[in-house]
Amino acid sequence: MPSPELVIRGRRVVTEDATGPASIHVAGGRIVAVGAFDEVPRGCEVLDAGDFAVMPGLVDSHVHVNEPGRTDWEGFETATRAAAAGGVTTIVDMPLNSIPPTTTLEGYEQKLGAAEGKCRVDVAFWGGVVPGNTRELEAMFAAGVVGFKCFLIPSGVEEFPHVTENDLRSALKELARLGATLIAHAETPGPVESATALCCAAGADGDPRRYETFLSSRPREAENEAVALLLKLCRETGARVHVVHHSSADALPSLAEAKRAGLPVTAETCPHYLAFVAEEIADGATEFKCCPPIRERENCERLWDALREGTIDMIVSDHSPCPPELKRREEGDFLKAWGGISSLQFRLPVFWTEARRRGFALEDLARLLARQPARLAGLGERKGSIAPGFDADIVLWDTEATMRVTPEINQHRHKLTPYEGRELSGVVEATYLRGEKIYERGTFAAKATGVLLKRSNDARKN
Ligand SMILES: [Zn+2]
Repeated sequence: MPSPELVIRGRRVVTEDATGPASIHVAGGRIVAVGAFDEVPRGCEVLDAGDFAVMPGLVDSHVHVNEPGRTDWEGFETATRAAAAGGVTTIVDMPLNSIPPTTTLEGYEQKLGAAEGKCRVDVAFWGGVVPGNTRELEAMFAAGVVGFKCFLIPSGVEEFPHVTENDLRSALKELARLGATLIAHAETPGPVESATALCCAAGADGDPRRYETFLSSRPREAENEAVALLLKLCRETGARVHVVHHSSADALPSLAEAKRAGLPVTAETCPHYLAFVAEEIADGATEFKCCPPIRERENCERLWDALREGTIDMIVSDHSPCPPELKRREEGDFLKAWGGISSLQFRLPVFWTEARRRGFALEDLARLLARQPARLAGLGERKGSIAPGFDADIVLWDTEATMRVTPEINQHRHKLTPYEGRELSGVVEATYLRGEKIYERGTFAAKATGVLLKRSNDARKN
């Protein structure tokens, strides 16, 4: 075992099974040992974290960076800066909203070129499944994308069309053969079209400034139907399927049952579905618009139950920003505004603020915000845990301190976020990427040292 160059130790080190005093020994950017608190070899640098929580660097497997092509929406520089400030050491970029989208090998190569040299944290990439690109999937997977995303309903951008059941069946057979995971935006068009027709019909109220109008245009039924379709195709093809940003509590029993039956299916939800409820969203407050929508209080409570029971496997941001004009905040038109919530930097404190009063422990946070997203992206043997052999990606944070979300601390390119003005528990003190400090109390390392991660060849084991 190489002798460590650095030891990070503390009273609250969060490993897979416990939180307690420990020392983390780092050499060559990796964790080489986790020992007792006092186990410190002579001559190496020691960082004592005191009472701060010492957790694996967070992994966010759902981030829309939007570069190249829509860099004015976010971009690798600002996204990875916000990630570092939020204790996130790995993000996985979504295949859409960039132009070109990552749906061909060439698109993937352009994305890698755009990201090179700009990233403050490590970045991996999802490819996309769109109608007619089944033959591109193998080449993209061999080149390093970690899996593939599809939409079952229009995505919001024309260059990333949604798939039908037949498109998806042919793609899933190919993904099963490759051993690749499909991640799916689970809403179907039928229920949304009927609901929209109904709420905008002559005589209906349908005021686009009211949150209720938007909510009723994206009914739970669209999600329930999509989840049922995904489970059917999962059963049929054996491909691994993951439901992204799940919101409808009514689909949870079928997800739970599929898991019990041993189907290779997982699901994520996002901080906004857990921290906000429809009843409290003001008219015109389009910064809260996302698809599927934030639903009623009763729905929110059932998402928390599902998280506790393991039906929902992880919490990711679905950071999907846009220039403020596209949110149409002045008009407050929910139906015309871009659907997407800006939150990459704030996932930890938003989740902790709610989770601590509901009895979640630090080990739960490490699992939900780091280990499970890393596994989903096939990075589970390198990222997301404090254990020997893993990259020395570590976040030190103060569980007791509070912070207020303001434009001054917000590192995203655009500052509009539904968390604006909120007082949150949990403050990131320092972030380490492969043993090097990349962020400490508002200050960033001079250089962007993130690397572009390719799917590892042993990803099938995850
Ligand atoms: Zn998304």
